[in-house]
Order: sequence, then structure tokens, then C-alpha cells
Amino acid sequence: MPKKEKIIISLNSAHLSKLPRDSYEVLDGDAPPKMKPETIAKLEQQVFDFLTISKIGRSLLSIQKIDQLSHVFLSSVYEASEAANCALFLYDTKDESFKCIKAIGLDPEVIGEIKFKKEEGLFWQVLNSGEPFPIIDSFGNHRFESVIKKWNLGRIKSQVWVPLIVKKSLIGVLTLGMKKDGGIYQETELSFILQMCNQAAIALETAMLDEQKERASKDLAKKMKSLAVLYSVSRALNFSTDLKKMLLFILDKARDTVGAQKASLMLLDTTTDELVVHAARGVPPDIELKINKGLMECTRIKLGEGIAGRVAISKKYMLVNNVKNDDRFQKSTKSYVESIICMPLIANDESIGVINLTNKKRGGKFNQEDVEVLSALAGQAAITIHNARLYHMAITDGLTQLRIHRYLQQRLDEELARSSRFKRPLSLIISDIDNFKNFNDTYGHQQGDIILMETAKIFRQNVREIDIVARYGGEEFAVILPETALKEALVIAERIREQVEAYEYPSKQGKLKTTISLGVAAYPAHAQEKTLLIEAADKALYEAKRSGKNCVAYA
Ligand code: GH3
Ligand code: MG
Ligand code: MG
Repeated sequence: MPKKEKIIISLNSAHLSKLPRDSYEVLDGDAPPKMKPETIAKLEQQVFDFLTISKIGRSLLSIQKIDQLSHVFLSSVYEASEAANCALFLYDTKDESFKCIKAIGLDPEVIGEIKFKKEEGLFWQVLNSGEPFPIIDSFGNHRFESVIKKWNLGRIKSQVWVPLIVKKSLIGVLTLGMKKDGGIYQETELSFILQMCNQAAIALETAMLDEQKERASKDLAKKMKSLAVLYSVSRALNFSTDLKKMLLFILDKARDTVGAQKASLMLLDTTTDELVVHAARGVPPDIELKINKGLMECTRIKLGEGIAGRVAISKKYMLVNNVKNDDRFQKSTKSYVESIICMPLIANDESIGVINLTNKKRGGKFNQEDVEVLSALAGQAAITIHNARLYHMAITDGLTQLRIHRYLQQRLDEELARSSRFKRPLSLIISDIDNFKNFNDTYGHQQGDIILMETAKIFRQNVREIDIVARYGGEEFAVILPETALKEALVIAERIREQVEAYEYPSKQGKLKTTISLGVAAYPAHAQEKTLLIEAADKALYEAKRSGKNCVAYA
């Protein structure tokens, strides 16, 4: 029991009326009654207990954090009970179990590790009775042996359990070990501790509710954030068939969501088992533009190498907030990376790439919340990218990376329908490499292929995002130019022609030259319908060839 302070007790007759008649003596006549010494001692103890408990109760109520609260409570109990050890269990609604959250005089590992769940049976009935009860019988054997064994409760070396009850519901349990002096707990001691528990239970319950509220509102905010991101991603992805645009969209969302300075999206090239950057943000604008238009390739990273390579193989994200002190990073990387999240893109259980996010804005640290939102986003994105890539492959010519003939036909239908609906112009260019048979004969078919690839690049560089460039035939390319009248189309065609003429094609024999001829036809000026428009452009091309090649003609 706690050391008694000197307490002055003044008792009046009202107090006395509540005391049993045999606890005091009436001296004579009307003289004030005189109490027996043991009664005074008992009263003194009770008043002291009452004051201590209410003091504890008041101070506990002013503490809001469960951790602090349980520390103060358990230390007071440890002090007052003279137990060799004690532990506090609180009910965790999330886990639906009573978890040990604090312990004194026990192996610290019991905290968080030892827990037990609600179940039927005598033990449970006793626990809900609201009274302290011994867990060891008078022979020193465990009562409720099966419960103790099942939940490994032997580790808390308890002798007495005291339930913590608020409004008839059990919110926790205090366990007490043997008394330090080996004695047994007296009823008065246990009733004192029970009073302490009752006071603490109210404070703990209040703190738990507050913490739950806080947790719930945080959880909700987090869920809303991920949902909002996912919603906008999936909505945008459903409408986008352009893989490049889709990758950039995903990357921008990921970067904005976690507030990273730099971001890159790498996809796995399965032919070489290398990761290749397909989209980037936060690098110098000219480089960014080249990467994002597919005109420049960054260093490739082998599967298993570096952070990205390892994440792709393990399919597990990596978060490093202090790159400088991390041996897994090379010196060169450490100079510009402070923190990084690398998130794998997994579709059908296969890694298809990774998203790298580096350097949280304002020098902050990436956290678990960032990881959660990002992993939801990556999951959605990976499946969409996978499907889009399959589609992209199906509509793309392998050699030139231009669209295939069938795709051009389909898009021309769509674009003409749109032009007719909105009364907007549209132009079509068809081109053919001059004397290509000769070229192949002189330099070989392989060198011819290089000409085709390089010429395709020139076409791509000279058109807008909305234009569609296709490999129309063997060495024939076609371009659909929506929203473009003949005059502008002729300018574009001439620009392409000039660039091809000026271009020095790489080869083993040195720089090679070639030229192309182009035919242009426009809707609605030359034709109102698809086959007629193609025919008109074809005729113009024939005209260009006939008039000496390396020129542009129109229908
Ligand atoms: P013209 O100026 O009249 O167009 O003369 P040309 O020799 O280019 O004649 P044409 O357009 O009829 O020739 C097409 C040639 O293109 C025939 C073929 O050998 C070559 N060709 C078609 N597809 C490919 C290809 O994928 N790779 C290579 N290297 N050559 C191709
Ligand atoms: Mg041809
Ligand atoms: Mg030709």
C-alpha cells in the first residue's frame, strides 16, 4: 500500500451515523463518542485511499494519449500494489483482441506480442464479473489452464487479474504478478486497486475513443485520396488509346500524388530483359520532350541491377528516404537523389516495369501513405498499360514503328465522319521513296530497312500529336492530317520532302542520300469519301513521280 501522509480527519455525527454501532463507544451521556483505535486506522486508510484514487482519476482524465495514460496508470499500480510485475491489456477493436500494451517487471517483448480473444466459458464469465480474481489457486496451480496455454499467458507471470470495465463493457485487464514480499493480496488492497482501475478505465475509454476517431478520420481521408486518384486514372485510361500519352498521364498522377520532384516510368523490354524509360518528368525540358516523344532512349537497366532492376525482379516496392547513407546507391546517384520510391508495375503477376519517384518536394520524406496510394495507382495503371501495349503492338509496324495499313483505314473512316459532322477540313498525304529498288540492289535490303526506319522518324518529327502516320505499303508512308486544309498540308509535305532530301542516312559505306515523292489530297475539296480521297492522293503521288520525283503534287 502507498505510504500514508499525515491526514487530518475530522468526523462529525453524520459520519458516525454511517459507522456500525460497535465501532465506537459513547463515553458518558451527551459527551461525543470516542472511536476505537482500529476503527480510526481503518477510516484513515479509507479516506487516504479515496483521496489518492480521486487524485489519480482526475490526473488520468487530463491525459489524452493512451500511451502516456497507460504509463502513468501502470506505474501507479506498480507502486501501490507492491507487485513484482504488472501488465495492462486493452481491447483493440480492429484486431478484436485484448493486447498487452504496457508491462513493468516483465520481458519487454510481451508488449504487443501477448494477446487473447473473447471466447465463451467460465474464464470469460469471471472476467466480466468486474471483480479482481486470482489466476493461481491456493496450491499454486494455474486456474483456467487451457486459456493460459492457448494464449501463452504464462509469460506475464500473473497472479491476479483485475478487469477494467466501463458502462458494463470490458475494455481491458490489469494483471498483477506475485507480491514482492511473497505475501498474498489482502481484500482491502485489491479493492483499492479495483478503484484505481475503475478510474483509469474511464480515462482510457475516453482516450481510445478519441484515438479511434482520429484514426477513422485519417483512414477516411486516405481512402478518399486514393479513390479520387484511382477514379481519375481509370476514367482517363479508359479513353486513351495512345500509349505514350497514357504513360505520361499515369506518371503525372503518381508524381502529383506523392509530391515528388522527378519521376520516370520504365517498361520492360522482354527481348533484352532491360528496363527502358518511356516517360519522364522533372528533367531538363528538351530532354523531357525527346524522351516523351519517343525520340530519345535513355540508359537501359538490366533486370536485377540497380534499384529499378531489383524492384522489377522482386515485384516489391522500395522506399529509401536517406539515399546518401545507403550503400545500395552509387556515388553518382547520391549526388542528385535524396529520397526515392520505386514501385513495380505488375500485370497478370508479371513485372512489366516500374515507376520511380525521386526527391519529395520541400525536402520532405516519402511515407507509408504515399506508398499505399501509389501502389493502388500502380496496380490499376499496370493492367491498363499491359492491355494498351498489346493493342499498340497489334496496330504498329515493327520495322518503322508507324501505324499499320488497317489502322490507317479505320482512323480515316473515323476522322472523315468527324470532319463531315463538324464541317472541318482534313488532308491526306501519301508518299513513296524514289528509286528504292535501285537502292536495295546497290546497298542491300538491310540498308534499305535503315532508310525506312530513318525516314519514318522524319515523318514523325514533322507532324502534330493528332496526326496519324502509317506505313501504307512496303516503302510508302501515309499521313492523315485532321483539321488541316490543302494549303497547310502542302507546307507540311514540302517540309518533309526537304528534310528527307537533306538527311544523311547512316551506313557502313558512309553517309547515303535518298528522296521521296508525295501526293496530297484534301477533304472536302478533292473528295467527299474515303476511297475517293485515297485515290486522289495516289493519283497526285503518281503525278509527282511522273514529273521527275523528289517533289510534292496535289490532286
Ligand atoms: P519509284 O521511284 O518509281 O518509286 O521507284 P522504286 O524503285 O521505289 O519502285 P517501287 O516503289 O515500285 O519499289 C518498291 C521497292 O521497295 C521494292 C522493294 O524491294 C522495296 N521494299 C518494299 N518493302 C521493303 C522493305 O520492307 N525493306 C526494304 N529494304 N525494301 C523494301
Ligand atoms: Mg512503291
Ligand atoms: Mg518507290
